[in-house]
Amino acid sequence: MRAMVFHGPGDLRAEELPVPEPETGELVLRVDAALTCGTDVKTLRRGHPVMIPKVPTVFGHEFAGTVTAVGAGVRGVREGDRVVAANSAPCGACRPCLAGRSNLCDDLLFVNGAYGEFIALPPRLVAKNVVGLGPGLPAARAAFAEPVACALLGIERARVESGQTIVVFGAGPLGCLLGMVAAARKARVILVGKSGWRFARVRGLGIGECLDATQTDDVVAAIRAATGGSGADVAIDATGRPEVWEQAIDATGRGGNVVFFGGCAPGTSIRLDTRRAHYEELTLLGAFHHTPELIRRAVDLMESGVLVPDDLITHRMRLDAVRQALDLMAEGNALKVLIEP
Ligand SMILES: [Zn+2]
Ligand SMILES: [Zn+2]
Repeated sequence: MRAMVFHGPGDLRAEELPVPEPETGELVLRVDAALTCGTDVKTLRRGHPVMIPKVPTVFGHEFAGTVTAVGAGVRGVREGDRVVAANSAPCGACRPCLAGRSNLCDDLLFVNGAYGEFIALPPRLVAKNVVGLGPGLPAARAAFAEPVACALLGIERARVESGQTIVVFGAGPLGCLLGMVAAARKARVILVGKSGWRFARVRGLGIGECLDATQTDDVVAAIRAATGGSGADVAIDATGRPEVWEQAIDATGRGGNVVFFGGCAPGTSIRLDTRRAHYEELTLLGAFHHTPELIRRAVDLMESGVLVPDDLITHRMRLDAVRQALDLMAEGNALKVLIEP
């Protein structure tokens, strides 16, 4: 089979590999749809010690497919079933898992391999984080399950309620999904982005109000002005930049919640106004990854039509064009690229 194999930072190769055979407890899928992700762009540039602990590995982590082979001992799944799989599976036995926070599992098993014609899913993933798809849910949409589940976690942590004003910093695919999930909860959404091809495209999606950070010298003041001076009920950073984390705090009103959704470079830090944090009771929250429950909820929301992220797909490409697809993402000239092997 053809596959795009990651050998280390900057080193992505098109290779011919054997089609995997399922071991006990495993499933083999034909990948019907894979999606590019900002994490792929980052990982290709500098590697990813958590998601990709060892190389070489087939690259990519957002995908949906059709079961082509079922390993011994797997129940409830048959050849020909259409499924989506998360890119990780928690152990179910550690302290965070037992406390219902399996996104923080001490032993999260990561799975890569979306950019190949076939993928073998390891037993723990098969047992915990593979979801069957109804006939009305196309593979290209189902492949959004992972990023949608991440967005659900962020919105959940923020306790977004109807009528609140949610400001999302960053208008990439995850910023958009956070906005869409918040809008589905009947919140007012303000997306903060930077002018360019991508932000123009996002404006056209009608997710919420769009604030161009390059058109003002004080984004925080612009947000305060747009909220009658009071600031956002919830501000979410989806850029992973420390200076934007600070803006998110500054743009949040009294009693508000700030969610640090975008991961910053290691070793960075932010300043915090202790007076505001205390007297204005700001709640500062991290949000990382997803849980099996949220993967299922993501599939349900897409299946029922509450959330239809299809418009975030701006390009379609073949497997051997993954590199170009990731370059387009890096240049800000694509939201999601659909890879059809
Ligand atoms: Zn992703
Ligand atoms: Zn665990």
